[in-house]
Amino acid sequence: MQAMLLKEYMHLEVVEMPEPPIGPDDVLVRVRACGICGSDVHGLDGRTGRRIPPLVMGHEAAGEVVRCGANVTDLRPGDRVTFDSTVYCGRCFFCTRGEVNLCDNREVLGVSPGPYRRHGAFAEYVAVPRRIMYRLPDNLTYEQAALIEAVSVGIHAVNLTPVVLGDVAVVVGAGMIGLATIQAVKHAGASRVIALDPDDGRLELARKLGATETINPKKADAVETVKSMTEGRGAAVALECVGATDPIQTAIACVRKGGAVTLVGNVAPEITLPLQSVVTRQIRLQGSCASNGEYPAAIELMSSGAIQVEPLISAIAPLQEGPSWFDRLYRHEPGLMKVILRP
Ligand SMILES: [Zn+2]
Ligand SMILES: [Zn+2]
Repeated sequence: MQAMLLKEYMHLEVVEMPEPPIGPDDVLVRVRACGICGSDVHGLDGRTGRRIPPLVMGHEAAGEVVRCGANVTDLRPGDRVTFDSTVYCGRCFFCTRGEVNLCDNREVLGVSPGPYRRHGAFAEYVAVPRRIMYRLPDNLTYEQAALIEAVSVGIHAVNLTPVVLGDVAVVVGAGMIGLATIQAVKHAGASRVIALDPDDGRLELARKLGATETINPKKADAVETVKSMTEGRGAAVALECVGATDPIQTAIACVRKGGAVTLVGNVAPEITLPLQSVVTRQIRLQGSCASNGEYPAAIELMSSGAIQVEPLISAIAPLQEGPSWFDRLYRHEPGLMKVILRP
């Protein structure tokens, strides 16, 4: 089969590889669409330590069933499917508590941090355990379905956030996850969603997808503006989708006393925390990792049109063009949101 292999850091190549073998609980999927994730782009240069070559990356994918392992009886060749990026074990302390995203033996498709190597979906075929697979409704295209993973991350963050009907929510960062989160928090009951991002193009997308107000922190004092929009108090909740000191401090300063900040962004390993502000204003900080059972909700909300992903797709290209798209994303070419490859 054809696969895009990270041969060494900074070197991607479409090569011929053997079809992956499947175990009794696995399904072989013919990949029809696979999105390039920011984490894949970051993995390119070895900075994250989570994509040790040689590796086929890619974990945001959809396709059709080709072949099922002996224990898989409820899927047939030709079924349209997508799958979670997290391969959980189903047996550890956390899995049995229903916290599969916190699994002790968690592996991620298309990731190799050293202890394991699990080839991903930038390939014609990928082997996936049945327990992480979901059927696709007919009205979702494979390309749209490749964004279910990102949408599920936004829904999970909102599910961990104590938002109630009528709240004002702030979403810091209007990248892929931020734009999914804006839509999810609106459907969770936020009456107003204020989006923050230094890129006006992204703010325009945010408005299109349901943000009621937008602030460019390069042009205006974000905290003062949020306060002026909320009778001087601040928002009830903030969801931070960048993951660095400045945006996290902004998120904390944007919520009112007793408010909650959910941390989704994960870039800087450490940040400076305004401890006194968090303690004396009794702010709740909540980390949010990947998703835990939100795939069906993501599929339902996308299928019904409540959450839209079409405006987030910047380009759809054949797998052969993958290396050059990675290069453009690595160089931060402006205006690019989600690029989807078709193996
Ligand atoms: Zn991803
Ligand atoms: Zn587990």
